[in-house]
Parts: sequence; structure tokens; C-alpha cells
Amino acid sequence: MQVQVSLKMEIAATASLSEMEQQIQQAGQQGMREALKQAVRQWEDQHPVCPHCGAQAHRLEGTTRRVIATLFGRVTVQRRRFRCQQCGRSFCPAKSLFVELQGGTVTAPLQDAALLAGCSWPYRAASATLKRRSFAQISAEEIRLLTNRHGQQQAAQQQAEAERVCASADQGPEAVETAASGESNGQPSHGIVWSSAAMWRPLAPQSTWDLSPRRQHSA
Ligand SMILES: [Zn+2]
Repeated sequence: MQVQVSLKMEIAATASLSEMEQQIQQAGQQGMREALKQAVRQWEDQHPVCPHCGAQAHRLEGTTRRVIATLFGRVTVQRRRFRCQQCGRSFCPAKSLFVELQGGTVTAPLQDAALLAGCSWPYRAASATLKRRSFAQISAEEIRLLTNRHGQQQAAQQQAEAERVCASADQGPEAVETAASGESNGQPSHGIVWSSAAMWRPLAPQSTWDLSPRRQHSA
């Protein structure tokens, strides 16, 4: 696949260096959006096989408009829909290409950037910053939802990890002692083991108390 876009822009003779940079960036983003449209179109050409029967003969039936939010702004893609001439069923080749969006509109690279921005600034400022920096259009509400969903996933992972560690600590007092001595050696992963055991296990106060002489000993 070869994608080619051309850039043409009018820059005022009085423009400052910053103004030139800004205008060139704007034109560049426009070129990127165009390149993505072309890439999708060419991808469709490279995948002409009917997913139902495997035949290649088809005719164009129409297009389906799909707007996606990317790092370089919103891109309107006209996905083509074909009618297979062998089995008579219709198919949209780019459907499998868009599977990774999981029915949403925001691409993975923009989601990454939005998460970073959403963790760093208030959602409205994050949205404005992304728009100013890269023309990415993602609303404060979308960033809030993304950041919250990611936070919930992280919390679930941490809880699963803490439960796994507590389960192994429950195997015997030796396990907890090993974990605690690891913590005093400055190993962060063992530090988590020890503190989560202290929070989660009913016997936690006992084991914390048991371990303090050992910690003083090693100091
Ligand atoms: Zn077919």
C-alpha cells in the first residue's frame, strides 16, 4: 500500500516563526487525516474476499460513514459496502479493521494520550490541552470515562494481586516473615506484600507486631 498526500498552504510574508510552525502543523494534521482515509480505502482494496463464501467477485453497494477520533483530529471514513456476486450477501471489508475500536470512536493512541492527560490535569484542561497540542478532539466527559475505566481496571488488578499475595502469605507465618524481611531490604514488591497482608488478613495486627523486632534487628 502506498499512501501519498500533498500539502499546500498559504503563509503570510509577515508571519513569525511560531506562526509558521502553527500553520505547518495544522496543514500537517490535515494531511494525516487524508492519509488515514486513503490507507483505509487501500486496505479495503487489498481485502476483496467475501467473508461468507470466499469469492472475490463483488459490486459496490454503497458506503457507511464512520467518524473516528485520532491523535490528529476527527477523521470521517467512508467505509465501502459490497454485494458478493457469488452468494449474494453483503459485506464491509473494513469491518475487521475497525474491530479494535470495540464499537467506540476513539483510537488506541488517542486513548493513551487522553489517559495521560486525564491523570495529569482536570478533564476539561486535559481536553483543551490535547486539542491545542495535536488537534485531537476528545471531550472532557470522554476523558473522564476513559480515565475512570482505566482506574477501575488498575484497581481490580491490584486487588487480584493483593489477594494472590495474601493467599500465599496465609500458607504459614514463614511466608509473611520472608515478605517482611524483603520489605526492610528495600524491595518495593515485598513492601506491597507485607502492607497488603497487614490490611487484609484478620491476623494482621499479630503478624505486624511479631515482625517488628526482626525489623529492628536487621537495621
Ligand atoms: Zn460471498
